[in-house]
Amino acid sequence: MFAVVVCPGCRKPRGIKLSSQKSTCPRCGRVIEVRKALIHFQSPDVREIKAFINAMSDFSPPVKEEECRDPWIAMQDRIKSERDPEERLFVIASGLSEILGTFTVEDVERVVPGKGEAYLRLMVDHVIVLETSPGRYQVL
Ligand SMILES: [Zn+2]
Repeated sequence: MFAVVVCPGCRKPRGIKLSSQKSTCPRCGRVIEVRKALIHFQSPDVREIKAFINAMSDFSPPVKEEECRDPWIAMQDRIKSERDPEERLFVIASGLSEILGTFTVEDVERVVPGKGEAYLRLMVDHVIVLETSPGRYQVL
């Protein structure tokens, strides 16, 4: 089961796994105790979680110019310009999910050669991504 909470640090909504004890915010690093968190929405379906977060975040679609570019190149640009390592994980996870829907360790490897496994492990640890089926991941 997954849930949507609002981070007490940066006030942004995000998805967490209810079975975890703690969850670290990928944006500001604030750690919350899942048991004590205020749950805004919960569902076993990651897509519903994502839809709820998008609705809460006033999600604005990407600008047209961005859409015309090769999404892989656009993502590489965003990664290069991002200095915060945790934010970079988030950029990679959301970029791959945008392009592929779900992604595997090989896809992460394509973005960060030699570091795919380490990056994916960090994404899981920080609950940036969820394993939707064995070996396949999706950003929250
Ligand atoms: Zn936060």
